[in-house]
Amino acid sequence: MNRHPPFTTLAHAAARTKRACETDGSRMVSDSVHLHAPKRDLLFLTQRIPYPPTKGEKIRSLNPAKPSQIVGVHQKAGKEHVEPAMNAALKAFESWSRTSVEERATLLHRVGDLLRERKFEFMAWLVFEVSKNWAEADGDIAETIDFCELYAREALRLTKAAPHAQLPGERDTLLYIPLGVGAVIPPWNFPCAIMAGMTLASIVCGNTVILKPSSDSPTIAAKVIELLEEAGMPEGVVNFCPGAGASFGDAIVSHPKTRYIAFTGSREVGLHINKSAATQSPGQIWIKRTVLEMGGKDAIIVDADTDLDVAVEGVAQSAFGFQGQKCSACSRAIVDERVYDKFLDMLKARVEKFTIGDPAENFNMGAVINEGSMKTILDYIEAGKRDGRLLTGGGRASNAGEGYFLQPTVFADIPPKSKLEQEEIFGPVLAVIKARNFDHAMEIANDTEFGLTGAVYTKSRDKIERAIRDFHVGNLYINRKCTGAIAGVHPFGGFNMSGTDSKSGGPDYLYLFSQGKSVGEKIS
Ligand code: NAD
Repeated sequence: MNRHPPFTTLAHAAARTKRACETDGSRMVSDSVHLHAPKRDLLFLTQRIPYPPTKGEKIRSLNPAKPSQIVGVHQKAGKEHVEPAMNAALKAFESWSRTSVEERATLLHRVGDLLRERKFEFMAWLVFEVSKNWAEADGDIAETIDFCELYAREALRLTKAAPHAQLPGERDTLLYIPLGVGAVIPPWNFPCAIMAGMTLASIVCGNTVILKPSSDSPTIAAKVIELLEEAGMPEGVVNFCPGAGASFGDAIVSHPKTRYIAFTGSREVGLHINKSAATQSPGQIWIKRTVLEMGGKDAIIVDADTDLDVAVEGVAQSAFGFQGQKCSACSRAIVDERVYDKFLDMLKARVEKFTIGDPAENFNMGAVINEGSMKTILDYIEAGKRDGRLLTGGGRASNAGEGYFLQPTVFADIPPKSKLEQEEIFGPVLAVIKARNFDHAMEIANDTEFGLTGAVYTKSRDKIERAIRDFHVGNLYINRKCTGAIAGVHPFGGFNMSGTDSKSGGPDYLYLFSQGKSVGEKIS
């Protein structure tokens, strides 16, 4: 097995930052380290199977807060790498699918233990590669550890499944067996937790994987692969292939031997994958399973009968945490007209307190992921200026540094059905919409093709019950923010165009990565 020395500069940076944080007590202090590109400048497969070398093309992931700084350099897998990757995954499937569930679960526990030991180093990679501040990076790694432990336990639980009844004279059993080779295609915004979650769920069930990380966050994925190897993962079980979505991604989705696709990302790409997966390729003998988790246009309803301080804080945190780049982020605040003006005053004051800058120094908000994303968000801000009233923000936060920093932006008086009210922006832009009453607010909230998260702030039990019944989202929160789902506590996944409601971190999740086999054996 190929081993590389640990990336000590960054590891030390993280450790020093942790110490600084502990001494300082309130604020993490940045180490001015110059990040060097990871030495793993190769697809893992390159060294292990007769893998065609890439044509010199590289993926470079940059620090969004300092785009002149390269965080990772990776070989770029193209269409010519699909067959070797698939062959490696198929070969590994022969033995991995027959490895005991206990052994597979132990691998996940080991990964969780290693990650817990090196949590600050992994957090540091997220701070530099995707511009999470330390609290957001902590959440991402903590969720990854939770997935390791939860899916290990869930896999063992699945072995105890049984049919409802036994026929006299028979031994009747129900087994959950692996599916085959899965394509795992994660986004960049939870580049550790979502990437690892879909991968770990796959392998603990006995599948093998071709993992194509997002081109904005391949380094953290490479670090997790190193951890899996250190924990004892056999060769070929997870085949790490950074590559472009449109070439490598498309090709693995349509490959006849791909048994399932686990995807998290945008609505557009999710629908494209759904269509491609539904088309039978020559030699394909199964219906491909798709687990697709997609975008959101998440709303928080603020009733007149509520504690406005609490509601304002919840809206502000949900809208601007990690620069609004969470699928669960609040992008619509729908507010009862009786408290609308007061809410706007309080929200403006709160949002203007957010600090923006290099997340290594733990500002409240870092940079958005890349230049293209920044331009798209700025276009939405221009649309907002036409459709509504700019309350605060409205452009780049140029004082924050050379990176892709944007001001937290709030528009008031956004009309229902307008562009800003309907489309996912995926950035620090919040639309505030005035509602006549609670029923009207619910009508506006549900008038979207998405259905991922939502929240309601109210003191009324009757309205809470109505929201539980009628607010059509996969993850509903009452009197708390609409972000921050915890694995095992809030199984996560959305309705409608937000996805297949796969509920990661929930009791049904591993069924998606297995198939049930029923055996009836005559014994007398
Ligand atoms: P994206 O759809 O642009 O990319 C997601 C992944 O798909 C990337 O790895 C990308 O390389 C790959 N890809 C792109 N084109 C492809 C193709 N033709 N074939 C195969 N793969 C392809 O999304 P993103 O910008 O990485 O992430 C942001 C989006 O993800 C937002 O819409 C957000 O709401 C969504 N998201 C959803 C959830 C959820 O649980 N519902 C969680 C996180 C993010």
